[in-house]
Amino acid sequence: MDSEATDHKTMDAGPLRSMLKRFDVAVEILELEPGIVRYLKTPARQLILAVPIQLDDGSLEVYTGYRVIHNRSRGPGKGGIRYAPDVTLSEVTALAAWMTWKCAVVGVPFGGAKGGIACDPTKMTKVQLEKVTRRYVADLADVLGPDTDIPAPDVNTDEQTMAWIMDTYSRYARHLEPAVVTGKPLILGGSIGRREATGRGVMTCGLKALEHLEQPAENARVVVQGFGNVGSVAAQLFAERGCTIVAISDIGGGYVNERGIDIDSAIAHMQQHGSLSDFKGGESIGGSEILELPCDVLCPCAIEDQITEDNAHRIEAKVVVEGANGPTTSEADSILEEAGVFVVPDILANAGGVTASYFEWVQNRAGYHWPEEELNARLDHMISEAFDAVLELAEEYGTTARLAAYCLGIKRVADTLTLRGVW
Ligand code: NAD
Repeated sequence: MDSEATDHKTMDAGPLRSMLKRFDVAVEILELEPGIVRYLKTPARQLILAVPIQLDDGSLEVYTGYRVIHNRSRGPGKGGIRYAPDVTLSEVTALAAWMTWKCAVVGVPFGGAKGGIACDPTKMTKVQLEKVTRRYVADLADVLGPDTDIPAPDVNTDEQTMAWIMDTYSRYARHLEPAVVTGKPLILGGSIGRREATGRGVMTCGLKALEHLEQPAENARVVVQGFGNVGSVAAQLFAERGCTIVAISDIGGGYVNERGIDIDSAIAHMQQHGSLSDFKGGESIGGSEILELPCDVLCPCAIEDQITEDNAHRIEAKVVVEGANGPTTSEADSILEEAGVFVVPDILANAGGVTASYFEWVQNRAGYHWPEEELNARLDHMISEAFDAVLELAEEYGTTARLAAYCLGIKRVADTLTLRGVW
């Protein structure tokens, strides 16, 4: 999964419903004109396409593909492409809107987009996946482009998929165009530091939140749910900053160690066994119990809908940093707020990935590679600036950081639309 990644099923599914509820509250706080609200809710472009491929026996298989550009007033559309059997137009549309707010919150000059193909990649060969990808891109050759719409990996698509996208688009463009897609392999113009960027943004937000609450980072107790790309990197970086990682988990369950889990050995275990199962560096604990441990920073970095009205009142963290997309339901928001838990919302906390995607695009356009330190320094700077801007707005409007982040993103898009005008 990747920087523009999200994990949701339909527009009515929990996290998307929660996102739309927060959108409605934010536009009320901002007192936006009803016409602007309608404009912000309406996708700029929705495409549905047939994606036929020929199988080995000569027969045809036809899949349905989607690409939605939600809003491009701040820059080219940006958003991942997912391959899954239950991809729908409404799901892709809602996810495209989410990308619009996320890019605006961190000040990345992109709009929001998303794409998908309704197919089951577990039942397809690599050759079939390549054919599907190339046909999809060929039919979207006049839509995609470094100045118009830039895909990235999402559920079930990876660096190889991005390499095919770049190659197919480049053949049509009659020149090599690496900036048409991000999340590429390094050798094809991918960026150093991008894989770690989402976890790095989670760590930066966690430390900023502790600073805001005037709590020391040294020995701060951190709990991380999910030990994949986002969670394992976040845990490692928190540990490097002197925090104590008291618990980690993956889909198989959690491990707790009051003296601190050795994250390097947890990563080594996962690489060797494919999961944390039987990890000896901590005592075993239930996957949901991990969320309720007393700690300074809780990072849900796994899947959606983990903190709900059922368990929110048992959360004992001072700070929640949402590495995953939509880990907290809108019903849980007020419970956490009343309990005084400071929540760094997903559209800020996990925006490190799309920010690094932007850096990849910038480097491709410049035909140059930044050293890792430069990418990390710029990433830390942009995430810190966005965090400060969200906090300032939260104080101005007297709202939570989550609503302030929505207000910030929506206001930046609305201001751009208003200044550019409608004609
Ligand atoms: P991943 O597939 O690499 O890792 C997911 C981890 O969560 C795995 O360790 C898995 O075992 C664990 N998990 C799954 N279900 C669980 C459960 N019920 N309880 C506990 N752990 C569970 O995925 P990732 O790329 O790390 O993404 C994690 C989340 O972050 C997703 O919501 C994704 O949309 C979001 N996100 C990722 C990126 C990125 O750059 N990878 C960017 C923005 C948002």
